[in-house]
Amino acid sequence: MLYNFLKKIIRRKNIPEVEVVSEVVKDDFIGFVDELNCSYVCGWVCNQALPQDRLVCEAVLSSAGEVLISSIANKLHYETIKSIGDTSCCYAFFIKFPRILNSAEQKEVFIRVKNTEYTVPFAPNLKTDFQPFLHMAMDIVNNCNLRCPFCLYDYSSTKKTFFMDDDTINAALRFLPFLPDGDFWFSCLHEPTLHPQLIDYLAKVPEEYRKKIFFTTNLAKKLPDSFLNGSLTQGCITLMFLLNR
Ligand code: SF4
Repeated sequence: MLYNFLKKIIRRKNIPEVEVVSEVVKDDFIGFVDELNCSYVCGWVCNQALPQDRLVCEAVLSSAGEVLISSIANKLHYETIKSIGDTSCCYAFFIKFPRILNSAEQKEVFIRVKNTEYTVPFAPNLKTDFQPFLHMAMDIVNNCNLRCPFCLYDYSSTKKTFFMDDDTINAALRFLPFLPDGDFWFSCLHEPTLHPQLIDYLAKVPEEYRKKIFFTTNLAKKLPDSFLNGSLTQGCITLMFLLNR
């Protein structure tokens, strides 16, 4: 109502609308940034005084004032915003950055509605990880030193053991930042302790990513105490037991 009243005054005084509307309707904006990571930002925003409008959002780097890219907030959001605006839920924006941001830049980004001073606030549960993969599964060998009767793998045609090489493990470990905790399956089908470089390969995993690693072992092979006591394997091993009667 206040907005319409001011709008009439503006018209009467012949003041150019475009310069003052942003100041007048700022309190009518509502929205949140749901996700912000090195690759993209997304969320939703609506001007409740003009629900038919779709707002243009700018991704801005605060220190340089650089507008990285802009996009219109007209995409379908979840039903959770059904009570907002025209009830269509079509107030979402998804902005892919023109480059992968470094961590310092990522902390600087904010979303501004174009031609206004309105900054879309971050949601309380803002998601900041860029994890496009659900999980990754690999094995560093193709064999096992046991032949359990319940094994789901048929080893009858496995005549030779092959070992993953350095180039392959290095390439695979590049996926670590993009996976949830516990979902980088380092070894899931065969027996990783057969690999002579298992400990070296585990040591390649940066400490902050150790909790992302998961692997199974039967522990049938004698291993140094450090294997179980050290930080390399804490929290990432699942043991397999075969009970003989
Ligand atoms: S230890 Fe696991 S992989 Fe090896 S034979 Fe037994 S069930 Fe299969």
